[in-house]
Amino acid sequence: MSIQHQNRHRIPCPHCGETARIRKSQGLTPLYRDAIVECRNENCGWRGKVSIEITHTITPSDIPNPTVRLPLVPRLRDLALSQTTIASA
Ligand SMILES: [Zn+2]
Repeated sequence: MSIQHQNRHRIPCPHCGETARIRKSQGLTPLYRDAIVECRNENCGWRGKVSIEITHTITPSDIPNPTVRLPLVPRLRDLALSQTTIASA
């Protein structure tokens, strides 16, 4: 299975399923980001708010920010190992 590389985040409109476009995004903290999304379907016209929160570390940074505290994903090695193969299924 091929991996799709996406340059932009794509979020489907919850009402019509059309791809919503991110209009504006701002980082409120290093771990939290807010965005306004707008449905591309002119017949729909939905707009909404999205929040993206970083919740866990999978691979620790080599240059960690001392103010950032993130829990490691539990059973990190097991997860990382099994997901490499499962991800393509
Ligand atoms: Zn829509």
